[in-house]
Amino acid sequence: MVILSRWSAAMAALGGIVSIYHRWLHVNPTTVALTLLLFILLLAAKWGLRYAVGVSLVATVSYNYFFLPPVGTFTISDPQNWLALFAFLVTAVTASRLSARIREEEHEAQVRRREVEILFHLSRELLQTDKVTELINSVPSSIALVSDASGVLLYLSDGDRLYRAGDVGPRIELPMLQELMLISVPRKLDEGRAVAVSLRAGVKPRGVLIVAGLSLSDGTLDALAGLVSIAIDRAQALEDVTRVEAAKENERLRNVMLDSITHELRTPLGSIKTAITTLLSSDVNAEDRQKLLLSVDEESGRLNHLVAQSVEMTQLDSREIQMQFVPSTMEQLIATTLAPHDGTTLHQRVRVDLPKDLPKVLADPAWIAKVLQNLLDNACKFSAAATPITLSAEAREGVVAISVADSGIGIDSQDQAMIFDKFYRAQSPSQRVPGTGMGLSICRAIVESHGGSISVVSQPGRGSVFTFTLPLSPA
Ligand code: ADP
Repeated sequence: MVILSRWSAAMAALGGIVSIYHRWLHVNPTTVALTLLLFILLLAAKWGLRYAVGVSLVATVSYNYFFLPPVGTFTISDPQNWLALFAFLVTAVTASRLSARIREEEHEAQVRRREVEILFHLSRELLQTDKVTELINSVPSSIALVSDASGVLLYLSDGDRLYRAGDVGPRIELPMLQELMLISVPRKLDEGRAVAVSLRAGVKPRGVLIVAGLSLSDGTLDALAGLVSIAIDRAQALEDVTRVEAAKENERLRNVMLDSITHELRTPLGSIKTAITTLLSSDVNAEDRQKLLLSVDEESGRLNHLVAQSVEMTQLDSREIQMQFVPSTMEQLIATTLAPHDGTTLHQRVRVDLPKDLPKVLADPAWIAKVLQNLLDNACKFSAAATPITLSAEAREGVVAISVADSGIGIDSQDQAMIFDKFYRAQSPSQRVPGTGMGLSICRAIVESHGGSISVVSQPGRGSVFTFTLPLSPA
């Protein structure tokens, strides 16, 4: 239809030019020839060589008939005019060819630019995720998005997995997909409406990519499939590295845990052993006996604490724990924490400072007591005996922030970033204080299970303030 109307338009325009010059404007034949030449060039540039050559032939005949003497006949009296006519025809056809070639090259360049753009945008889309499953799921939609294809199907032979976006035409059965996997050049399907290209990992076929409603050169299709394959390999490699690193980190932590616990077990066990051996020897007076028993009591308390911390950490790590969040007042949480310490030095050193109208929080009182207990123990351990420890709280946007402040040795800024990691203990002088480096990591796990966060502000030599948040209780 378009072709027919273009032919008619071209012929009508030619007729128009010829009749204007023939009837009204009586110019010399050279002007007519140049005008016709110009028209033919325009045609070649706009619609291509076919129209230009066709119109050239008709123009040559019309030129001869209407403008070369004797006018009104197809005969030519002056042999020079034969030459002119021939020159006109050759110039028209040659110029048309040149003009049409430029037009084709421009078109070709545009197609290439679009193909490069598609590859570039696709590579950007595919780099957005490092997870293999997420990546593979997103491949068809990413290709459809960047290329305007009406449908994309990705088949991976490993597990016979199919992923699609849009409509790729009639259903393609598994045996056919397996056959397409082996093709070495892209193959047209569904009467040219779709094209299949094989996906390879190195030289080994790994699947097929079928793209519908998009015409791309074979080279670009190969590049597209190559890009998808490389993206899958890259994500796979990244996942493998992460897995290996996680396994290594796990192994490292297990070793650190064993070291730390063995070291911490040895000291109290040694003291208990010595005390009991002395007690068993007959010559111990009543006063020494009492001291030794107190030491056994204290050291077994340390052992107990150590075992309890290890168990808690393992439970929190494996997410075995079901916390019972209940609306609680800060007073209740503090009372639960301090009750077992009634009359101890810890109890005497703690100053509680709470505003009157503090809202309730949503918390598991037993677990939050462990957090407070750890923070208070640390405050005691890392500050001078008589100095006070302040436990305060304030309402902030959507949370209550609870702080434990001491005026002890403080923590330098490098250590502050790491003390919440498992088994991390700041270098001297706190190293001389017994401990395992588990307390703060347990606190962080518990607080995060409540949906809160924990942080520290500290100045070496001046003290530390540990603050954690808990969500407000609804209503
Ligand atoms: P532990 O107390 O068993 O060493 P934690 O995880 O509770 O383990 O604490 C980790 C490290 O953080 C401690 O070894 C210490 O270096 C530092 N730290 C914790 N609390 C304080 C504090 N209140 N003042 C100074 N340093 C602290």
